[in-house]
Amino acid sequence: MTKLKMTNEFKTLKKFDAGNGREGFLYSLPALEEHGVGKISRLPVSIRIVLESVLRNCDGKKVRRKDVETLANWNAKAPANDEIPFVVARIVLQDFTGVPLVVDLAAMRSAVKRLGGDPKIIEPLVPVDLVVDHSVQVDFFGSAKALQLNLELEFKRNRERYQFLKWGQQAFKTFQLVPPGIGIVHQVNLEYLAKGVLSAPSTINHQPSTIFYPDTLVGTDSHTTMINGLGVVGWGVGGIEAEAGMLGQPVYFLTPEVVGLHMKGQLHEGVTATDLVLHITQLLRAQKVVGKFVEFYGEGAASLPVPDRATIGNMSPEYGATMGYFPVDQESINYLRATGRSDKQCRTFENYFRAQNMFGMPGKGEIDYSVDVDLDLANVHPSVAGPKRPQDRINLPELGKTFRALLEKPVQDGGYGKKNVDLGEKHLVQLNGSAPRDRAMASTDEIEQGINPGDERNKIEMVANRPTPDTGKEIRAASSEMFTHGQSHIGHGSVLIAAITSCTNTSNPSVMIAAALLAKKAAERGLRVDPAVKTSLAPGSRVVSDYLDKTGLQKYLDQLGFNLVGYGCTTCIGNSGPLHPNIEKAIHEFDLVAASVLSGNRNFEARVHQHIKANFLMSPPLVVAFALAGRVDIDLSREPIGKDMNGKETFLRDLWPSLREIRDTMQSALKPETFRKLYRDFADQNPKWNEIPSSTGDIYQWDETSDYIHEPPFFKNFSMEPGHVEEIRGARALGIFGDSVTTDHISPAGAIKATSPAGQYLLSRGIEHSDFNSYGSRRGNDLVMTRGTFANVRIKNLMVPGTEGGVTKYFGNQKSGTGEQMSIFDAAMKYAETKTPLIIFAGHEYGAGSSRDWAAKGTRLLGVKAVVATSFERIHRSNLVGMGVLPLQFLEGASVQSLALDGSEIFSITSLSDKIRPGHHATLEIKGKDRKSHSVPVKLRIDTPIEIDYYRHGGILPFVLRQLLVK
Ligand code: SF4
Repeated sequence: MTKLKMTNEFKTLKKFDAGNGREGFLYSLPALEEHGVGKISRLPVSIRIVLESVLRNCDGKKVRRKDVETLANWNAKAPANDEIPFVVARIVLQDFTGVPLVVDLAAMRSAVKRLGGDPKIIEPLVPVDLVVDHSVQVDFFGSAKALQLNLELEFKRNRERYQFLKWGQQAFKTFQLVPPGIGIVHQVNLEYLAKGVLSAPSTINHQPSTIFYPDTLVGTDSHTTMINGLGVVGWGVGGIEAEAGMLGQPVYFLTPEVVGLHMKGQLHEGVTATDLVLHITQLLRAQKVVGKFVEFYGEGAASLPVPDRATIGNMSPEYGATMGYFPVDQESINYLRATGRSDKQCRTFENYFRAQNMFGMPGKGEIDYSVDVDLDLANVHPSVAGPKRPQDRINLPELGKTFRALLEKPVQDGGYGKKNVDLGEKHLVQLNGSAPRDRAMASTDEIEQGINPGDERNKIEMVANRPTPDTGKEIRAASSEMFTHGQSHIGHGSVLIAAITSCTNTSNPSVMIAAALLAKKAAERGLRVDPAVKTSLAPGSRVVSDYLDKTGLQKYLDQLGFNLVGYGCTTCIGNSGPLHPNIEKAIHEFDLVAASVLSGNRNFEARVHQHIKANFLMSPPLVVAFALAGRVDIDLSREPIGKDMNGKETFLRDLWPSLREIRDTMQSALKPETFRKLYRDFADQNPKWNEIPSSTGDIYQWDETSDYIHEPPFFKNFSMEPGHVEEIRGARALGIFGDSVTTDHISPAGAIKATSPAGQYLLSRGIEHSDFNSYGSRRGNDLVMTRGTFANVRIKNLMVPGTEGGVTKYFGNQKSGTGEQMSIFDAAMKYAETKTPLIIFAGHEYGAGSSRDWAAKGTRLLGVKAVVATSFERIHRSNLVGMGVLPLQFLEGASVQSLALDGSEIFSITSLSDKIRPGHHATLEIKGKDRKSHSVPVKLRIDTPIEIDYYRHGGILPFVLRQLLVK
């Protein structure tokens, strides 16, 4: 391990008892307070942890004395608008965002080599862990073979990416990889990667010593905040910022406000951690916590075990906060012990936090927060959230009523605009008919993979989920002994996907065991799931399977079709896989508002499945319950869920397990040895990974025949001189969007349509539609991703009213004053021929959702110079700057609507020069069709001084590369 060079600017280096007879050093926050640098003991714990990093890294250059003093004097009610240089201890990545990041590192190495330098100067300086979890898709389900078959397909589809990652694993020393089939990044982080406290060798007073510091991180996934539940500070950043962090740059952020959420009371029997987090999401959305830290404290917070806290931390992006942090206390230590961490590690964790005066859940009045919010846990009720946003919580009894109202509510008011709906009307769907196969489904070859031709059972199980002529009824019955008929009746509100998915919940044994116990009671009464419901179970670690197997509960989930489909994100990231083609046909034909129920954290349109319009987030036991009910237009508190084997009506209350049952089951099943055993020697536990061949060497040999990995153009013609900040003149609008355009709208992760520019490109490369894979998996190829930018099938460009998908009007052809309709990509390329700069206009919360760097990279590669929006979400704004695209915000009162923009105008952005400062006001000049000009001021959303540098250099990567090359 690299030896740390320690500074002691504030004379705060102190010895402490690191446990088990070891002595170590730390940068003491109490000592800093004693020296009169701020009232540190009154600071929120999350701020203190960041302060420790700033103090430890204070070298007068990257981190200045002033930075320490400013943060130590954080004023709760009026935090200074200063940027904090936060050097994190480590980085976590998932494969969708991690692959392009390793591609960029490889491209930087190639650029350094071209410039005659040593490529090895490009090397992560902090430990980086990449967990391959986002690629597995639910192609097979409801079968004992589903896991193996989905894994087979995953490896076949992602072979090139995995070969590349294996190259990265050997090329970069500080880069560790968790192969596919092990778990989901945030659950793996919680159960294994997180240490609580890290250490490094050092020399202090000329003696070899060890320095200890809190575990902190950033991750290229917005739900990195799940680790806040363990008392670890960390959050999601764009891939671009993470790259800079890896290369030794601090992560910069503005001094935040900290919302203190005081919890009191206890959760009632029957109320889950999922209900609690949906309640908190709604509560905090209303509090407008975007860009703020939230810290949970009080006796209610102390009563929550770490998995519940992690569920709450996980959904920080949904309530909009940078973090949802729980201070370290005895529960945190208990969790580390319960998950197999060593005694040495647990003692160090406890001793360190005690020595820093940061151990224990704070009580009311002990800490100064910017905003105080109270929550009585006794007021939380069973809930779901949806159908389109996670903050739209619905009390369970009201779901049926709410859904019925939404069906007829006008589209512009968030409804579905149906008229005279008869919810009793159902349409017969044959599930064993000879419908055309969905081209997105796997090829016959793939289905055949792993089949032993002589094994009839295997054949049956493999086709069970891929309906082909004459197979439905018998096959489903044969494969899982549950599907008793091969047809269904579906209508508005029918549940067509029921997924126990997402690390948000699968990391929490109490809700997973509750789901399994509910399945047991249902299965024992003979209740069954309708064959139209695509059921799946995708835990975030193999520990879940271990306890479900040990308790004998998995078999009941199997009986309801919740067979294990993989250890990965699956439905949570939109990899729900295809529905039966006849179901899709019926949805289209009758324009059905069908439903999904999932234990995920996001339900934006087209996120879960392109054809499912109503998506409800809920706890795993409720997912099982709604799968059994088969519809969402129901009040499960009063209406029966179904009939048992004797024809007797069964209610949710008959199936719901008691807290005691859940606790007893958990205690018998969760053992630290299991965690130790399952988190050892990953490579040995996945032979398929070992079979993948990979190249070696410091420089990646780019392969022009690959359609997954391609050298991006970011460093082509790279020079050592940065550019200048210049005005943008003669620009055209490439798109005008409304409110809440998510990064998923901008850069979708899911299926690639054959008719889309990306689809056409892949077809032109000789790739069959069945082999397209998803956008998420092609993020190592800029040629696909640029074509996929703004290509979400649900994005609505107001320049072309009444359309959906990535279309725009091209006004470069002066003969056509009304503009020529074409794809956004084609228009961008045509504008590029005339070097016409492009602008995107948008409403509120532009770039909400996942931290998706391709949403910024694709924007840049389409030739967009600026995005003008009413407001931005935090990560996407910083990613735009990180890619050298200017984010600009309308001032109060101005908007696309108030300016009556239709996209036919010619725009200029003036008052821009090298002298710009954060928050600078520029001018947006608009020349309309009538040739009249008018202008409005717009605010630069370059928020920190370092971002000015990034923008001037054309982005963060050229900035870092130039820094490294001059060293
Ligand atoms: S399961 Fe969902 S929340 Fe967890 S890492 Fe995957 S996509 Fe993100």
